[in-house]
Amino acid sequence: MTRTVAPTRTSSCACGRVRCRATGAPIISLVCYCDDCQEAARRIEALPDAAGFREADGGTALLTYRDDRFSCTAGEELLADCKLSEAAPTRRVVASCCNSAMFLKYAPGFWVSAYRARFEGDLPRLEMRIQTLHRQADSPLPRDVPSHRGFPIKLYARIIAARAAMMLGR
Ligand SMILES: [Zn+2]
Repeated sequence: MTRTVAPTRTSSCACGRVRCRATGAPIISLVCYCDDCQEAARRIEALPDAAGFREADGGTALLTYRDDRFSCTAGEELLADCKLSEAAPTRRVVASCCNSAMFLKYAPGFWVSAYRARFEGDLPRLEMRIQTLHRQADSPLPRDVPSHRGFPIKLYARIIAARAAMMLGR
């Protein structure tokens, strides 16, 4: 039996000093429209020379990986946290060299959500749009993938399955 080699994907900041590596298939590939993602994107995009990283309709495309399958491979000392409030459980991590949004980390979680816009090459297909209740665009909601007004059961199921696999060392 042949085992397929897990694909490795690299994300880079706009100036190339910060690089992150993701291994294997993501837990999920989605676009999020929640208030926090939108507010954080507005703040990060307002930083000097920051490159936009959102979809045309304001959604934030993310590739979510297990902690053990995502790492910063260059320029880690340049990473800076952006939090919406001091007590917020989520920090969004920006490459301070060029103000590129790299990934976000929800403190209690075992996963990292990397900003899709920072990756190059062949990327996993989009699977769902979530938190569409908070979508602000006037354009019709794209119907390419299922949309959910909140967090769908399927997303929780994926996270639970990923946690189980991680605990089993798979
Ligand atoms: Zn940079």
